[in-house]
Amino acid sequence: MTHEQLFGATPEGHWSAPGRVNLIGEHTDYNDGLALPMALPHTAKAAVSRRADRRLLLFSGWMPEAGPVDLDLDALAPGTVTGWAAYPAGVAWALREAGHDLGGLHISFESDVPVGAGLSSSAALEVVTALALSDLFDLGLAPAALARLARRAENDFAGVPSGILDQMASACCTAGHVLRLDTRDLGLRQIPFAMALEGLRLLVVDTRVRHAHADGAYAARRAECEAGATALGVPALRDIPIEGLAGALARLPDDTLRRRVRHVVTENDRVERVVALLDVGRAREIGPLLTAGHASLRDDFEVSCAELDLAVSASVAAGALGARMTGGGFGGSALVLVAEDTADATGTVRAAIEDAFAAAGHHPPRVFEAIPSSGAQRLPV
Ligand code: ADP
Ligand code: MG
Repeated sequence: MTHEQLFGATPEGHWSAPGRVNLIGEHTDYNDGLALPMALPHTAKAAVSRRADRRLLLFSGWMPEAGPVDLDLDALAPGTVTGWAAYPAGVAWALREAGHDLGGLHISFESDVPVGAGLSSSAALEVVTALALSDLFDLGLAPAALARLARRAENDFAGVPSGILDQMASACCTAGHVLRLDTRDLGLRQIPFAMALEGLRLLVVDTRVRHAHADGAYAARRAECEAGATALGVPALRDIPIEGLAGALARLPDDTLRRRVRHVVTENDRVERVVALLDVGRAREIGPLLTAGHASLRDDFEVSCAELDLAVSASVAAGALGARMTGGGFGGSALVLVAEDTADATGTVRAAIEDAFAAAGHHPPRVFEAIPSSGAQRLPV
């Protein structure tokens, strides 16, 4: 159904915001740490038209049978909207909470970001809404401000306690770059990642698995990180430098806490080491850091699963430079870096992953190629 068919109104504009993969820097964003995401070519798109009244009508092609969700702009409050509409409605709520004046709207969404695959389909939906509303109501919000509002929508309205990585990536990434994100001060640096030039390809392996205990485990990891920081007397684990790791571990009484802290501290260091290599044009050498990051998430942080581990081990065995889970874990997606030095090296790695999944009796994964793409933008008419 088109926007016109749904709402009897012509869109005043079209906007898009991408999903993301995080090259390295996982479970660091709630520890004031570092991450290195890039935008996917997959986006959520919004067509928007204003209404004369104060109703918010939301439609998604992902759930067409449900029809438009009809909400009262003035009655939006945390807990009042359930299901997918909480993400865009939460953005309208967060904008109003920040003192911005909005009017009624029709918004229709179409997205090709895989949903629930650890590729930030939820942030894409929030950020595209925030950008469209900022433009339509002349709010002039900068990308980082859009990301903060989108995160507020996800945390405080939809009730999902995520960090700021996904929203910053969707709002601030630029084509051809990875984004060095410092989640403490939201400091940003765009780092060229000229994959084609260097003969590199990046595969995303969506395992299509989402384990049920993911949400509880995520909350538990956050609590463990906070406990670690408290025990070490620092505001956040970000404040433990890699040189101070051994000393910090010696001061922790508990083995689980020690492993959680070790993941966060070594992961921040891996981000810096990947950045240092990219800065001097040595992108081909980042592979082992990616694979080491996976081992740390698997063994120290314990957020991987059999399918993700298999995607990593099968691709590395088939000649990939490196591979790791990306996103929160417990299912979702892995990324695989391949050097296209021999004819169809990427096809060989992809076949190895698919064969390994079949042999293990896992559901076939969805494998696609990622190139560093644009962040949120208004689309030409
Ligand atoms: P991820 O962000 O990794 O894809 P989440 O669990 O954070 O996974 O977000 C998935 C949720 O976001 C979906 O269950 C749905 O509520 C919402 N969502 C994502 N994309 C869409 C879409 N195109 N239309 C409607 N809701 C969507
Ligand atoms: Mg999400």
